[in-house]
Amino acid sequence: MASMNKSGRQISKKVAGVPSSDGAGVKMRRLIASPLLDYVDPFLLLDEFRTDRPGDYIGGFPDHPHRGFETVTYMLAGRMRHGDNKGNQGLLRPGSVQWMTAGRGIIHSEMPEQENGLMWGFQLWVNLPADKKMIAPRYQDIQPEDIPQIEREDGIRIKLIAGEVDGVKGAVDGIATHPVFLDIALPQDLSFSHDLPSTHNCFVYPYDGDIAIGSGDEAQLLPHQQLAVLSPGDQVEIIGKSPLSRFILVAGQPLHEPVARYGPFVMNTADQLRQAVADFQAGRF
Ligand code: MN
Repeated sequence: MASMNKSGRQISKKVAGVPSSDGAGVKMRRLIASPLLDYVDPFLLLDEFRTDRPGDYIGGFPDHPHRGFETVTYMLAGRMRHGDNKGNQGLLRPGSVQWMTAGRGIIHSEMPEQENGLMWGFQLWVNLPADKKMIAPRYQDIQPEDIPQIEREDGIRIKLIAGEVDGVKGAVDGIATHPVFLDIALPQDLSFSHDLPSTHNCFVYPYDGDIAIGSGDEAQLLPHQQLAVLSPGDQVEIIGKSPLSRFILVAGQPLHEPVARYGPFVMNTADQLRQAVADFQAGRF
């Protein structure tokens, strides 16, 4: 298709995951919120958990609070049971997504509902703008069959968690930072192009197989399990470099606001963090 002088995004930073542990000893690779990559505004954190050793995940994430942002859990394999202090319950199955807007506060647990087998998926933290940090909590629990999927004739498969492709809208809506979250399976040497608002920040993470980013001679290799933050631009082109590469493409509108973090609380100022801790300790979540 003819492009009207679209500027292609390229890799501006490439990082590997840092082995990490969270909850009750769950082992994972931390891709954002690591010493190598602090923040990709509005994305505060990205973890990939991927293990078939029950000891790496069986402890799960017992009751813990969140305030001031959103947590997104996307399961590729395994099952997690979710419950919170407002009486909400849900089961995350392979291919399902939970987009939880914590807002002013929630206390929840995320526990494996299996004693063996592969547990594989992602948790992404998305920041909320200052004027939405204290909104009421909201869940979007999306079952695998409710995530729109595009299967192109050439074999490219696109799951639309958020955003829009070929006129099809993603499953998640009403998010402040207008996120794009695609899970794409790309056969070797085929190319996937996607237009993005030029102001959105974007990262790409091949969780299976290698890809290249950019077009023609400017394409840069991105090996599997390395995350690329992309330069500004209004289009991204990705080329498959393995028999079938699978990757997530995530983009969102940056907030350009101060970030004050303390564990599971993400606010704008230290005073707001102290208030969050006080509210949590006083049982006001
Ligand atoms: Mn949590």
